[in-house]
Amino acid sequence: MIIHGVFFAVKCNRCGNICESGDYQYWNDESAAEESAAESEWHIDNGKHYCPNCHEIDENDNVLIYLPIPESVKKAQIFLQSITRYAVLKDRKDSFRIEISNIQYLSDADLAWIRSKIDFEIEKVVTPRQEKIIIIIKK
Ligand SMILES: [Zn+2]
Repeated sequence: MIIHGVFFAVKCNRCGNICESGDYQYWNDESAAEESAAESEWHIDNGKHYCPNCHEIDENDNVLIYLPIPESVKKAQIFLQSITRYAVLKDRKDSFRIEISNIQYLSDADLAWIRSKIDFEIEKVVTPRQEKIIIIIKK
């Protein structure tokens, strides 16, 4: 017999990443999901949740939530994620980086489509175990 259940996860209000703690992303209730996020250095504020990549704590213990991610960057990441199934958005001080591992699914036409929406540079990383492409979008 198959039954349906409801599970809870914490998603970052800024970048959309789902909190992953150990082997789990989903929990039986909201408080367990939040507890796990808090233990993974997420910032929780008034029902909003920010992953470690989207905030920092300054020397006076003030929480600084980074500026919103531009829609064009989010759309590029969603597009690349749908094609390659693995496109992780990382936020750096002067750029956004979208790391793509399954580059065999990526065509020049896909990159041209993104370039029509947004300006970026490409970095190719080759290791003995994998090849990956990093799309770098300057802030
Ligand atoms: Zn985030």
